[in-house]
Amino acid sequence: MIRSNLALLGVLSFFSFAAFSHQTKKADTQFLMPSTLIVKVQFKNYKLGMWKLNQLHLDVAGIDIKNKFAEVIVSEAEFKKLENMGFDVSVTMSKSLMRGPDSQYKTPAEIETILTDFHNRYPELTQLKEVGKSLQGRSIWALKISEHANTHVATKPVVLFNGMHHAREVMGPEVALDIIETLLTNYGKDNKITHWVDANEIWVMPMFNVDGNNLVWTQDTMWRKNARGNYGVDINRNYPYAWGTCNGSSGSKNAQDYRGPSAASEPETNVMMNLVKDIRPVFDISYHSYSELVIYPMGCNGKRVQNADVVESIGKQMGSLLKYTAGTAWETLYSVDGGDIDWMYSEYQVIPYVIEVNSASDGFQPDYSKRGPTVELNRKAWQLLLDRLDGAGIRGHVTSKGEAVSDFLVKIQKKIGSQYSDYMTYRGNADGSYHVVLNPGEYHLTLSGPSIQTTAQEIIVEKNRSEVNFDL
Ligand SMILES: [Zn+2]
Repeated sequence: MIRSNLALLGVLSFFSFAAFSHQTKKADTQFLMPSTLIVKVQFKNYKLGMWKLNQLHLDVAGIDIKNKFAEVIVSEAEFKKLENMGFDVSVTMSKSLMRGPDSQYKTPAEIETILTDFHNRYPELTQLKEVGKSLQGRSIWALKISEHANTHVATKPVVLFNGMHHAREVMGPEVALDIIETLLTNYGKDNKITHWVDANEIWVMPMFNVDGNNLVWTQDTMWRKNARGNYGVDINRNYPYAWGTCNGSSGSKNAQDYRGPSAASEPETNVMMNLVKDIRPVFDISYHSYSELVIYPMGCNGKRVQNADVVESIGKQMGSLLKYTAGTAWETLYSVDGGDIDWMYSEYQVIPYVIEVNSASDGFQPDYSKRGPTVELNRKAWQLLLDRLDGAGIRGHVTSKGEAVSDFLVKIQKKIGSQYSDYMTYRGNADGSYHVVLNPGEYHLTLSGPSIQTTAQEIIVEKNRSEVNFDL
């Protein structure tokens, strides 16, 4: 223990924020380094102010859009710099940021125990999977929930809910655990929930950044990144799509949004990428905190998805149910590059969201009494996605002589007026399935691939999903 404490002292000066080491989970008393401040930056023009702030790559803890301010964790020197640059900046002593997490929030070991318990209680409905290992060798767990969870059925759409890219954001795992509990304990009792579990394959990964979370409990309550070196890499700036391209991350190791030395350099990033490649979710929610936002791709300034009529409108629906602000990262916060949702969308046309639960008054680690209202509120969003899987869209299976075709593209054109124009291209799943969420309308599908002759079909999508199978 002494050795690790000495090692820690050696690296404390590198941290923008650090607490003295403590060995137990009970983080009742935390100490801030004397030079660390939590400041409120008040904007007149929110968007312009956030843009300027983001150029500095400081540790932006969260924002309050309605009241036009950001909370930032800074050193005294950084505080002076903000003042000198003309920012309206004042020191806040936010107790929620200083106190450290309530001991009822979860450690990586507790997550493992809870998931194992759920699996033992519901062996038929769940599959517990170690989806990979962290940099320090910790298991990263996901629980699949479905009728006969051990059997994959290609015609069933897949959904992924994951928590905690960022270690200090301890409410994410709680929302994910609530999804699991709600689905399993109401299966067979509630018709909607029973249907969702029967008709879909629902994957939940409550705690992604297990190493970082261990640091939150043992060294630094405000740790955000993974456990690389003594600095950490921001996993959510490490994904290979548009990595490091739009000033939406930092190349500096000590920055809280350090993107890493190369795209997908971190084992955790690869764990998520492999999981998404394997399961091919239709929807994803990555839970973060705080700021009360629903964020959809793309992350770089001015960029939008091709099928914004679906992706953005569902995001806005979730936003209005939660009373959270919905938008792209560059609309609500600042540009983000190397984030998970852009990669999921671009690589596999997942419809992915980041939901930032809780408000600036809650902070990263609110009193545990906030858990109940937060998870209850957030049920509205993930349940909307599960409901939407029965709504407008096309799904189907591509076979050749009875065998699944594993490599194909579905090019989709949409009829606007009397003309078809390019809408999006969906990469087919390895099991021969495809699942595309669309709004009602007339579409033209073109199937292509290295082993198939190009095939086309017109289809009218109505308010419930259609099934179009191709046997080539
Ligand atoms: Zn986060």
